[in-house]
Amino acid sequence: MRGKGLLLFISLFVLSIVLVGCGGSDSEADGEGGDGKEGKTVGIAMPTKSSERWVADGSNMVDKLEELGYATDLQYAEDVVENQVSQIENMITKGVDILVIASIDGEALTEVLEQAENLDIPVISYDRLIMNSDHVSYYATFDNFQVGVLQGEYIEEQLGLNDGEGPFNIELFAGSPDDNNAYFFWDGAMSVLEPYIEEEQLVVQSDQMSFEQGATLRWDGSKAQERMDNLLSAHYSSEDIDVVYSPFDGISRGVISSLKAVGYGSDNKPMPIVTGQDAELSSIKSIIAGEQTQTIFKDTRQLADAAVDMVESVLSDEEPEINDTETYDNGVKVVPSYLLEPTSVDVDNYEEILVDTEYYSEDDF
Ligand code: BGC
Repeated sequence: MRGKGLLLFISLFVLSIVLVGCGGSDSEADGEGGDGKEGKTVGIAMPTKSSERWVADGSNMVDKLEELGYATDLQYAEDVVENQVSQIENMITKGVDILVIASIDGEALTEVLEQAENLDIPVISYDRLIMNSDHVSYYATFDNFQVGVLQGEYIEEQLGLNDGEGPFNIELFAGSPDDNNAYFFWDGAMSVLEPYIEEEQLVVQSDQMSFEQGATLRWDGSKAQERMDNLLSAHYSSEDIDVVYSPFDGISRGVISSLKAVGYGSDNKPMPIVTGQDAELSSIKSIIAGEQTQTIFKDTRQLADAAVDMVESVLSDEEPEINDTETYDNGVKVVPSYLLEPTSVDVDNYEEILVDTEYYSEDDF
């Protein structure tokens, strides 16, 4: 009996050492990086792969986060709102530690973010502001109003509007009405162009001058092409068009296809000025070919850095760097934001802005 008792005592003793040891090694694993990255997963929800910029955004973020030791779950929803909602739901179910979301419809995520809130999963709004939710910690984006200002100023300079030149015919395109950014781009551009429209240095032959009339659901280039076809046939049979204000490269390419179909871009019918945004490769090629005129470069590497900084800070209960606490009201709260600077690009500076900074290489063109 005494022998058995001793054996039992020794077994219990060994077992307790093993258990304590396990517990110890677990907490060590958590603390090993000193920063809690081990075992943390960042869920990244992106709108679509159909536009190059979002592909670059996603892969830049994954590269940076994985370099820092995080796991990532990157999903694209191909511009279908329901897909994005269920992708986010799945990430929540799988237990991601934080969500970074570039929404398709900024108003459609309120409920799914309630689920994230119930499980204490923080949310960072990426590039596009998530509306109607108090569960958005921070917003990383570019100065969206400034994007529009740069597009408007480009038109102003190219046409010499400030020197009183005109009248010129212009048509106006806006982005997707479910994307908060679209209103900022429009307002920025109109802050420059509207006075010239009032002075009739710029004339909108179609009279379609409101955001709603110019809006392009889901930023769809083929919808823009269709609208441009209609504008050209209804209002430009005897007039030439001099400028198309387009907020996004995909829209610009749709517009350009429409213009080419009725002979613009030939010797006796020059291409109008066509603005854009995102410095997508096909649009840079189009700029080099003399079709699109301008685009706005938003360095997705910088945006990914800003978002990753927010992830790191939120997960370690620290404040990330913020430079705007006033502009981005999502209907429930003003979301503290970090705004980056956009840059205007055309045929004269694309090499300096895009090639010298290694965003693209000359071979890409
Ligand atoms: C982004 C733009 C982009 C547009 C279409 C906006 O929310 O800020 O960079 O051109 O969506 O994808």
